[in-house]
Amino acid sequence: MRDYKMLIGGNWTSAVAGETFETLNPYTGEAWATIPRGRREDAEKAVQAARIAGESGDWPKLTATARGHLLRRFGDLIAQNAERLADVEVRDNGKLRAEMLGQVKYVPQWFYYYAGLADKLQGSVIPIDKPDTFNFTRLEPLGVCVAITAWNSPLLLAAYKLAPGLAAGNTFILKPSEFTSASALELGALAEEAGMPPGVLNVVTGYGPEIGEALVTHPQVAKIAFTGSEMGGQRVYEAAARGLKRVTLELGGKSPNIVFEDAKLENAVKGVISGILSATGQTCVAGSRLLVQRSIHDAFLEKVVAFARSARIGDPMEKTTQIGPVTTRPQYEKILHYIDVAKQEGARCVLGGAPAPHPTGGGGLFVQPTIFADVRNDMRIAQEEVFGPVLAVIPFDDEAEAIAIANDSAYGLAAGVWTQDTARVLRMSAALKAGMVWVNMYRAVSYMSPFGGVKRSGLGHENGMDAIRDYVQTKSVWISTAAETPDPFVLG
Ligand code: NAD
Repeated sequence: MRDYKMLIGGNWTSAVAGETFETLNPYTGEAWATIPRGRREDAEKAVQAARIAGESGDWPKLTATARGHLLRRFGDLIAQNAERLADVEVRDNGKLRAEMLGQVKYVPQWFYYYAGLADKLQGSVIPIDKPDTFNFTRLEPLGVCVAITAWNSPLLLAAYKLAPGLAAGNTFILKPSEFTSASALELGALAEEAGMPPGVLNVVTGYGPEIGEALVTHPQVAKIAFTGSEMGGQRVYEAAARGLKRVTLELGGKSPNIVFEDAKLENAVKGVISGILSATGQTCVAGSRLLVQRSIHDAFLEKVVAFARSARIGDPMEKTTQIGPVTTRPQYEKILHYIDVAKQEGARCVLGGAPAPHPTGGGGLFVQPTIFADVRNDMRIAQEEVFGPVLAVIPFDDEAEAIAIANDSAYGLAAGVWTQDTARVLRMSAALKAGMVWVNMYRAVSYMSPFGGVKRSGLGHENGMDAIRDYVQTKSVWISTAAETPDPFVLG
């Protein structure tokens, strides 16, 4: 058993109350590490460490260029440790090692990209309309930022937040999911090794309603960047509103993957499968509603079912495995519950629909790839996020109906469109109410391209050049060059 500590102000520490919890390997079902169970008093220590590091010491003295160098070193260390970090991720969340290694190897790019932007954040000199006056703006860090992440892609989601926020000169408290805390703690150690001054990146662990809530309600926290469920996001948003804090929310989805009759069907099948079966369906951008034009519906569904049926379920560490376990028991039970709901609603189960037996690995959290046909968009299986390998298939007649069904959702994270018609591509990409639209591809992300949802999928964007602007505040500085101060009773 590994015994992890939290990183607060450059010290590796237990929780103040000395409490811990165990983190489980979802594949084996066995505990493999103990994690400190932080609470309000630990949050307080972390906020004070981050505040002090932001106000005094080496961090605020660094030039923006030097901050960039530091982030590059941090990125290099993540790259050098990618294999080890990927193993930690798989041990905690059960996702395929191939997927996690790909993610971890990509994470350094976030630090390189925002390192490059660190010294390009600049204010402006305003040609102000007042005589004898010089006016300019400064872009300043916000202060203490809190990054809260979900369990499905722990390091990637942390990088979305830390890279722009640190580049802009803020200090951070990273609070990973209680189900996948280890990789964030490993990341903290690499930040130290890179030479990050103590207190700039603090990593605390524990449960959302305990230390998470204590962080988001803390009066000295300036911004919360949250990735998680809609319910968690609502709690964070309420706390942020009371404290007038800035907030970025990356929440759930029920994204449509829309296949037109003129699509290259073999490609579309792969896109649909990647949308719903990769990561065992546990991705926020899962294409969990498949909208298929009626003229090709039956033939296309048959192809999707055949492909899904052939997916290899097993040990996530094995190269040949395509579907690993669900990450947590509550999530496993939620998926099975939704399968029952879909059956009760009258959806036709054409594949799976039950737990998947698996000979090895004692965790038992396997679900068969499941496909429901004859789904109506008003069914719960079409409206609510399952976060598992469960696809709801809905037929449509024409483009107008596809748009109407796609947009008839409380969520708006992503959408996929499969067609060879360029004019339709442009019409669809404008009409779909979603933060990201993928055309003849699915599930791509990049540090360069904005990521975020509309409606109940969230608020604000991560990634891309503009994301760094969410981590600075503008100050306007006025300087008089006049020999005399004007009449105090006249606004100049
Ligand atoms: P969750 O909301 O249960 O937990 C997410 C994080 O929030 C955890 O670290 C948790 O400890 C913390 N938390 C929970 N309640 C809190 C509170 N009251 N105050 C402060 N922190 C709190 O979500 P989850 O089950 O870990 O993740 C799955 C969800 O995340 C899905 O809905 C998925 O769609 C979403 N997600 C979204 C994105 C995105 O970028 N849009 C990416 C990945 C996952």
